Amino acid sequence: MNDLAIVGGRIFDGFNSYDANIYIKSGKISAVSSEKLDAVEVYNANGMYLLPGLIDPHVHFALNLGKYTSADDFESGSIGAAYGGITTFIDFLDPVTKRREVEENFSKRMKVASRSHVDYSFHMTIAHPDFSPRELIGSTLALGINSVKSFTTYSVSNRMTEDGYIFELLRESKKAGVVATFHAEDDPMILYNMSKVDKHLPRDLPLFHSYEVEAEAASRISTLAKLTNGQAYIVHDSSGRSVDLLFKNGIPHNLRLETCPQYVSLDDSIYNEGPEEAALHSLVPPLRSKEDVELMRCHLEKGTFHTIGTDHCPFKREEKLKNMNDYDGMPNGIGGVETSFSILYTLFVSTGKIKMNDLVKMQSVNVSKTFGLVGKGQIVIGTDADIAIFDPHKKWHVTSTALHTNSDYTPYEGMKLKGKFVSTIVRGNFVVKDGNFLDDSKGEFVKRGPVFWHTL
Ligand SMILES: [Zn+2]
Repeated sequence: MNDLAIVGGRIFDGFNSYDANIYIKSGKISAVSSEKLDAVEVYNANGMYLLPGLIDPHVHFALNLGKYTSADDFESGSIGAAYGGITTFIDFLDPVTKRREVEENFSKRMKVASRSHVDYSFHMTIAHPDFSPRELIGSTLALGINSVKSFTTYSVSNRMTEDGYIFELLRESKKAGVVATFHAEDDPMILYNMSKVDKHLPRDLPLFHSYEVEAEAASRISTLAKLTNGQAYIVHDSSGRSVDLLFKNGIPHNLRLETCPQYVSLDDSIYNEGPEEAALHSLVPPLRSKEDVELMRCHLEKGTFHTIGTDHCPFKREEKLKNMNDYDGMPNGIGGVETSFSILYTLFVSTGKIKMNDLVKMQSVNVSKTFGLVGKGQIVIGTDADIAIFDPHKKWHVTSTALHTNSDYTPYEGMKLKGKFVSTIVRGNFVVKDGNFLDDSKGEFVKRGPVFWHTL
C-alpha cells in the first residue's frame, strides 16, 4: 500500500510532459503510472503541473554580516522556499581561512540549519586559505560537501582569494569531483571606481560594480577554466553585456553559469528614484541597465544559463534605510525564494519564449546534476519524493504582507504574476498543502559526494 497518491496532474520532469499519477511510499517515489493504485491518502491534482521539487543553489539564510543579520533565518527562509516550490536549497558556510575553521564553520551552520523545513546543503566558502587546495578539497568532501565558493573581490573585508590559489583549486577540482564556484568581480576595478567619488551612495552601485567589473572577472574565470579543465561555476551572472563577452569568446564545456530572477526582471532605473528606493534595491551585483536586462533575457531564452539561483538575502526596510546616505554600511541583498519560479514562468513560459521543461531544468534538474544531489531533481521510481505542485492558471500579485519572509518589503511589490505553487512535498511529507504550511515538516542535510560533470 502506498502512503500517498497524487492523481490527475500533468508531470513536467525537465525532459518530457505527460499525464500520470505519482505514488509515494516511505518518502520515495514508488510508482509513476496512469493506473489507479492503492494509497492511504489521495491528493487531487486535477489541472495542476507536477514538478520535481525545485533546488535553489544560492541562498543566504541567517547571514551574519556583523552589524546586521539577513532577515530570514532557516525557519522563515525555508517556509518561504517551500511556498516557492523549493524542496532543497544550498546555503553557505562562513568563509574559511584557517584549516580548523573547516569543521568549526560546518558545525556552526549545521546547528542553525536544523530549523529548516525543507532539505539543505552548503557550499564551502573560502577567504584566501592558508592551507593547500588539495587539503581544502579533502576536508570539504569529508563533510559531505562537494562545492567551494571563492570571491575574486572583497579584499576590503579580507574575503578575496588570489588567482594562484584559484588556478590550483580548479586544477584539483576535476580530479577530486568538486565544483569551484565564483563570485566574479574585479577587485582593483571596484576599488578604483569607488575612489572616484567622495561620498558613497547606494544610487552609485552601478558605477562601483559596473558591468565591466563583472565582465573582466568572469572572463578571467572562463580562461582559468579553459586552462585547467576544472569544474567551474559562476554565481549570479547579472549583466547581459558581460555574458555576451563570455559567449563570444566561447563558454567552455566545463564552465556553468547561474543567474537570478532579479537580473531578468528588474533594472537599474530604480536607483534614480530617490535614496530610499536605491537603498531598498542595494544588492551586489546591482540591477543592470535595460540593455543588459534585454540581453540577459535573450541568453536565458537561448539556453546560455545552466541554473537559476535566487541569492536570497533580504534585510529589513529599516536596516536598509538607516544606510541610505552612506553606502559603506549597507547590508546588500534582496529576497527571492518565494517568487522566483512564478516570475520566470510569467516572463518566459506563459509568453511562449521557453518551454516549461526548460525552466524545470534550470531550477531543478541541472542544479541536482551540477552539485551532485543524488536522488533529487527527478520524478523517477526510487528517488526522493520531492514534488512541487504548480497551478499554472492562478493569477496573483506580489505583496510583502502575503509572503512568508521575515523582511517587511519585497522588490517585486505589485508585480502581476501567472502561476503559483499550491503544495510542496519533501520526501513524501507535505510542507505546504493547499496553501497551508504544516509545522511538523522537517528538513534534512543532504550529503554530496564527489561529482563528475557530464553534458547537461
Ligand atoms: Zn550570494
